[in-house]
Amino acid sequence: MGNNVCQSCGMPLSKDAKGGGTNADGSRSTKYCSLCYEDGKFHQPDFTLEEMQEFCIEQLHKKGMPRFMGWLFTRGLPRLERWKTA
Ligand SMILES: [Zn+2]
Repeated sequence: MGNNVCQSCGMPLSKDAKGGGTNADGSRSTKYCSLCYEDGKFHQPDFTLEEMQEFCIEQLHKKGMPRFMGWLFTRGLPRLERWKTA
C-alpha cells in the first residue's frame, strides 16, 4: 500500500481514466499513469522535476484547484520513483 500513485506525477492511479499507463508490451503499468506513460515511454521524457511540478499545478488548476493547493501537492513529487536520485 502507499504505492498506488503515479511515480511520475503523483496522481492516484485510481483516478486515472484509463487505470494506468501502458508498458512497451501493452500490459498495464502499475507505476505510472496514462498521462505520463504509454507504450513504455514517458510523454514528457525531457521534463525536469521543476517542469513536472509546474505542469501538475497547471493541470490541477484547470480542474479547479487553487494554485496554492497544487503547489502543496507537488511538494511530494521528489519522493516519487522517477525523481528520486540514487
Ligand atoms: Zn502520472
